[in-house]
Amino acid sequence: MRTFIGAIVSLAQGFYTTFQFFFQKKPTIAYPSIKKQHAPRFHGLHELRRYADGKERCIGCELCAIACPANAITVIGAENTPEDRRSPGERYAARYEIDELRCIFCGLCEEACPTDAIVLTPRFEMSDYRRGSFIYAKDRLLVPPEAGVGTSPDERPNGIPSDLGSVLAQKSTVDIASGYSATWRGELLKTDRKGLAG
Ligand code: SF4
Ligand code: SF4
Repeated sequence: MRTFIGAIVSLAQGFYTTFQFFFQKKPTIAYPSIKKQHAPRFHGLHELRRYADGKERCIGCELCAIACPANAITVIGAENTPEDRRSPGERYAARYEIDELRCIFCGLCEEACPTDAIVLTPRFEMSDYRRGSFIYAKDRLLVPPEAGVGTSPDERPNGIPSDLGSVLAQKSTVDIASGYSATWRGELLKTDRKGLAG
């Protein structure tokens, strides 16, 4: 009899927990049309930024590659020329690649960058079927010229951009507040996935 009563009490306790959650609002989110908001300092997919005049911020210095503990970044710099000036410095990144499968999203590349060129965005959607697809080159990392931010050193008398160190304030071109649907990457997703990016 005592065992029977014990079982009933255990059952009642179990059902009490179930009923506690039965009438609560369900946390299910209709992903991917609705995206969950991350913490403001969430580290996701990288992007390479430009200045407002369209020049690339990256000067090919390789500091990000040296700082990377996962050896995920490859940078090969090249000289700017008067005819083909890509960045405000002497050099630009002729080749810039990040192996997102190696990356541990620590953000050290972002910290090491002297020009706020490489940043980690809140984007996390990078699933694919082939390993090679996770090597992101400039064609996927570099933002379009219209998404550039900040004054280029070329336009400042002392050659120092005014927005250095403001990575936290201008984390990326990704619009966190609106679920980053209004960004260029969001627009790409909408095109590629027929509106699923919301
Ligand atoms: S976030 Fe960390 S692991 Fe990933 S590329 Fe940057 S430095 Fe390397
Ligand atoms: S992203 Fe920054 S640290 Fe890396 S090569 Fe370009 S300028 Fe240097």
